[in-house]
Amino acid sequence: MTEASNIRTLGYGITAVRADNPGALTLTGTQTYVIGNEHIVILDPGPADPVHLDRIQHVVDGRTVEAVCLTHAHSDHSAAADLATHRWAPLRASAETLSRLNLQGVPLVDEETIALSKEFTLRALNSPGHSGDHLSYFVESTRDLFTGDLVLGEGSTMIAAPDGSVRAYFQSLAKLSALQPGRLIPGHGPVVDAASERIEESRVHRLKRIEQVIMALQEGADSVESIRQAIYSDLPVSHHVAANLTIRAYLEYLAEEGHKLPILTA
Ligand SMILES: [Zn+2]
Repeated sequence: MTEASNIRTLGYGITAVRADNPGALTLTGTQTYVIGNEHIVILDPGPADPVHLDRIQHVVDGRTVEAVCLTHAHSDHSAAADLATHRWAPLRASAETLSRLNLQGVPLVDEETIALSKEFTLRALNSPGHSGDHLSYFVESTRDLFTGDLVLGEGSTMIAAPDGSVRAYFQSLAKLSALQPGRLIPGHGPVVDAASERIEESRVHRLKRIEQVIMALQEGADSVESIRQAIYSDLPVSHHVAANLTIRAYLEYLAEEGHKLPILTA
């Protein structure tokens, strides 16, 4: 892997550094973002891979790192947090993320801003759904929206009960969409130029899945397993546990929305 294929300038003082941890959930790998000009933030330092951290250092290139920020506690985004804070700057994340990681840091509250310069103010936004501790970040001047794992650059994110919540996910999508973002810059996958369309696509995809769950129940599915067979018929065995947790999240949502659900066997 050459430097060039991992490091990509996104313009307007934003550089993406992709970690070499590709996979089903991480797509081409976790994207770490270096944001700002003279004063910068490192968003999601990623896996604790010394090569990845050296690439980040290469992009930092002597500039003042004001904070290492996290979107959420999942290890593909945060495993390097401890190393990164020792190397660069204090950790900023939601109080819940800090507590899950058991790391020292300065908690970010919803709507709190980090001012890097006249042109860069980064606003933290509570955006649970994929996980309960999740923050997205918005650059006021460029309308760039960093969505972490809430909305990926392609495919659909994992919403697994009990930490994931479909209800919270829809609320977070509505909140982010209301910002009228320009680009959507995700934790995995490509940057999307039309953020609002991508957010809407994500919402519609999820509604379609929920419709499929309702249909499976109407057709007599009486267990999480049988719902899975109805809606994800050709899923490899290695994905069954994850799919079952996703279906639990859909069932939780339907119950919250007042749907009368049958008593399901395990
Ligand atoms: Zn995640």
